[in-house]
Amino acid sequence: MTIFTSQQLADISEAKLIGPGHIQVEEILTDSRHYKAGGNKAFVALAGKRHNGHDYIEELYQNDIRIFIISEFRAAFKQFPEAAFILCKNSLEALQKIAAFVRNSFDGRVTALTGSNGKTSVKEWLFHLLKFNNEIIRSPKSYNSQIGVALSLLLLENRYDAALIEAGISLPGEMERLEKIIQPDIGIFTGLGDAHRENFESAEEKLSEKLKLFKNVQLLICQSHDAKVLKQIQEELPDTRIFSWGENETDNLKIFFQPQKKGTDIQLEYAGKTMLFRMHQKDRASQINIGHCLAYLISQNQINDVPAEAFEKLPNIEMRLEQIEGINACTIINDSYNSDINALSIALDLLKNQTPQQKKSLILSDIKQCRRHKDQLYRQVADMIHAAGISRFIGIGPELSKRSPYFSDIANTAFFTDTASFLKQFKEKEFKNEAILLKAAREFTFELISRKLQQKKHQTQLVINLEAMVHNLNYFKSKLPKETRIMAMVKAFSYGSGSHEIATLLRHQQIDYLAAAVTDEGIRLRREGIRLPVMIMNPEFDSLEMLPEYRLEPEIYSFEILREFARKIRMYTNMQHGIHLKINTGMNRLGFDAAETDQLIALLKSIKNIRIQSIFSHLAAADDPLHDAFTREQIRLFNQISSRIQVAFPYKILRHIANSSGTERFPEACFDMVRLGIGLYGFSANNQDKLQNVSSLVSHISQIREVPADATVGYSRAGKLKRDSRIAIVPVGYADGLRRSLSRGKWAFLVRGQKAPIVGNICMDMCMIDITDIPAQTGDIVIIFGDSQPADHMAKVLHTIPYEIITGIGDRVKRVYYY
Ligand SMILES: *Cc1c(COP(=O)(O)O)cnc(C)c1O
Repeated sequence: MTIFTSQQLADISEAKLIGPGHIQVEEILTDSRHYKAGGNKAFVALAGKRHNGHDYIEELYQNDIRIFIISEFRAAFKQFPEAAFILCKNSLEALQKIAAFVRNSFDGRVTALTGSNGKTSVKEWLFHLLKFNNEIIRSPKSYNSQIGVALSLLLLENRYDAALIEAGISLPGEMERLEKIIQPDIGIFTGLGDAHRENFESAEEKLSEKLKLFKNVQLLICQSHDAKVLKQIQEELPDTRIFSWGENETDNLKIFFQPQKKGTDIQLEYAGKTMLFRMHQKDRASQINIGHCLAYLISQNQINDVPAEAFEKLPNIEMRLEQIEGINACTIINDSYNSDINALSIALDLLKNQTPQQKKSLILSDIKQCRRHKDQLYRQVADMIHAAGISRFIGIGPELSKRSPYFSDIANTAFFTDTASFLKQFKEKEFKNEAILLKAAREFTFELISRKLQQKKHQTQLVINLEAMVHNLNYFKSKLPKETRIMAMVKAFSYGSGSHEIATLLRHQQIDYLAAAVTDEGIRLRREGIRLPVMIMNPEFDSLEMLPEYRLEPEIYSFEILREFARKIRMYTNMQHGIHLKINTGMNRLGFDAAETDQLIALLKSIKNIRIQSIFSHLAAADDPLHDAFTREQIRLFNQISSRIQVAFPYKILRHIANSSGTERFPEACFDMVRLGIGLYGFSANNQDKLQNVSSLVSHISQIREVPADATVGYSRAGKLKRDSRIAIVPVGYADGLRRSLSRGKWAFLVRGQKAPIVGNICMDMCMIDITDIPAQTGDIVIIFGDSQPADHMAKVLHTIPYEIITGIGDRVKRVYYY
C-alpha cells in the first residue's frame, strides 16, 4: 500500500485528527483478530450489531498500533498519548474515502466483476491467464463487500498495469457506493442467480441494482444465454459498449463447448476466425467461467499473449466441494454452507464429474433463501435431482417432508423433519460405496451428519471440556482481589491440551498474560493470531533476536542471558522491549540469587531499551503443608528482593510468585499477579471438589473376542485368564501416552459405566480389556480417563503427578474441544 501519514489520512477522510500527525501507515486493518505484529498499521474501528471495533483499541494499543480511525471517542482513549485518533462520523465511510483516493491515484486499468456466481473463479482465472504479460493486482480471496472492496483498492499501486476487483451486494443501495469507489473502466457480469433474492422485490430489481456498477464503464462483458437479462442490460446501459458471448448469431464472440472424457474442448469464432482451446474442467460452472475469461481476452486483444498450456492448467477454485473419505468406502462431499437452488444445481453438476463411478446420494435440507412459491421451487428441485442421476434422496426439514410425493421418481427416499430425528435412526451399515452430497442451510447443522459419515482414522481422542476450564478459572478468580492479574501457563502445548484453542478461549476470559515454555511455542501463538502479552520462560540463546518481531517477552534468569538479549535488541529495534526477571528464592532452578541483586540493578540501569514488566519467583512446595515454613520464607525473601528492585526504577513493575496451589493456599502472597497452570486443567492438591475435570482420553472397542479360560492374551503371554472371558481390543497404546506400567490390571477403562481392567501387557498402539461382565459391543465408547476417573487417579497408580499424565498424551491423539 502507498504510505500515508496520520495527518493525510485525516485529511482524505475529512475527519478530525486527535494526536500526532506524523505517524506513518503502511497497512490498514479492520479485523482485530487477523493481525500480525510489526509494521505501521492503522486500525479502523467498525461498529457492528454484535461487535464493536472500539472495544479492541486498548488491546491493539498494547500491541503497538498507533493509528485508529474511530467514530466514537471514549474517555479511556486519553490514556494512549502516543496514538493518533482519526475521528469521523462513520468509520466505514472514512475507509471508503481513503480507498477512493487510492483508486483515483491509480493509472492502470480497473476491471470490476459482479454477478451471483463465479466472480471469484473468473477473477482468479483471469489473473492466471493475464500474468504472463501483465503485472496484475486482484482482490484477495473473495473480498467483495463494502469493507472487502475498500481493502482491495488500498492495494493498488502504480507499479501494476491493471486491477481485477470483485464486487458483491446483498442489499439495495450498496452497489452505488461500490461504483463510486471502484470507478471501473471495464465490467464483467457473471450472471444472475437466486442468492440474496429475498432482499429484492424481483429479479429485475436485483439485476438493475447490480448493473449500477457498470454505469460508467467503457466496455461490459456478459453472456447472452438469458435473452431477458441481456435485453435489460442493453436497455439500462444504452451508451455502454456491450460485448456478449454465447452461441447466438448476434453475439460478439461465439463460444461452443464440447465436453470430452477428460475436460472440455472450446471453440471460439471471432472476426471470421476460429480458435480452439482445451481445459481439464468439464462442469458447467467452469465452462461459463472460462467463457467470461475468453471474452475478456478477445475484447482486450490479449488472447495471443496467453500460452495455450495456461488453459489446461487452470487451478480449481472456489468449488466448495471438499471431498472426504467416508465410512464403508463412501465419499462425502460437504457443501453445507448455503442451499439456494443455483448452488444446488452447480453442486449436482460437480458431483457428477467428481465421482463418476459411484452411486450418488443427496442429503438436502429445506431451502431457506428463496422467496419463490414453495411448491414450484420444490418441484424444480425434484426434477433437478432426478435429472442428475441421484439414486438415494434424504430430505430434512418440514417443507421437504410435506412434499415427499414430488420425489417419487427417485428410487430410494426418506424424509425427516429435522437433523436430530435423522441422526436418531442413523445406521452406519446403510451407507456403502456411494458418493454422498450434503447440502444444507447453516441452521440445519449438517456438520453433525458429516461427522457420522466420516471415516475415523485413529479413534482415540483427548476431549477437552472448555466450559470446565472456564469454571476452574472463575474459581481461582473468586479467590483473588479483583485487581490481581492472571498469567495463564500455556507451556508444553497447554499441558497437552492444545495451545491455540486454549489461548483463544482464555483471551476472552480476561487473562492478562500467557506464558509459553520456549520461543517456538510463542511464535506459534502469534502466527495463530494470539495477541496477548506472552512471556517465554526458557528463551534459547539463539532465538533471542526473534523475540522483538513477535513481541515475545523473555524470562531473564542470568547475567549472561541479560547481556546477550541487550546486545541483540540493540541491533534489531530501538523500541522498549519488555522482560521478566526471575529470582531464585529456594527452588534452585533458574533465577538470580539474593546476593546478586545490586549487581543486577546496576546492569539493568545501563541498558536503555528494556523495560522490566515483572519480577517473579517460583514456589517449590506450595501444595504441601509439610513445607509451609519453607514456602513462607520463599515469599518473605521474594518480597524483600523485589521491593529493592522496584524502588530502583521509576515505573511500576508487576510482582508475582504464586502458581495454582500457591494461589489457593497462600492468598496473601498473590502480589500483583498469579500464574495458573494445573488448576485450570482441573487438578488441585487441596480443593479438588471445587474444580471440574477438563480432559478425558476416550477411545472405542475395535473388536471383541471370546477367549477360553486356559489361554493367554498379548505379548509375553502376560494376560493369563482364569475364566472363559470376553476380551475387547482398544486402539490405544503406550505410543499414545498410556504408560505400559498400567498393564495387567493396574488400571481399568470405563465401558458402559463399568470398570473393564486391562488384560496382559499394553502394546504400542493397542491394549486389551476384560469385558466379560459387561454387555458391550464393538464400537462402544471406552473412557481411559475422564470425569469419573480423572488423570490424577491414574497418576497415583503410577506414583507420579497429573502433570506428567496429561502432557504425555501422544501427538497423534486428536484433540477435540467442546463447550
Ligand atoms: C509451570 C509453572 C507454573 C504453573 O504451575 P502450576 O502448578 O501448574 O499452577 C507457574 N510458574 C512457573 C515458573 C512455572 O514453570
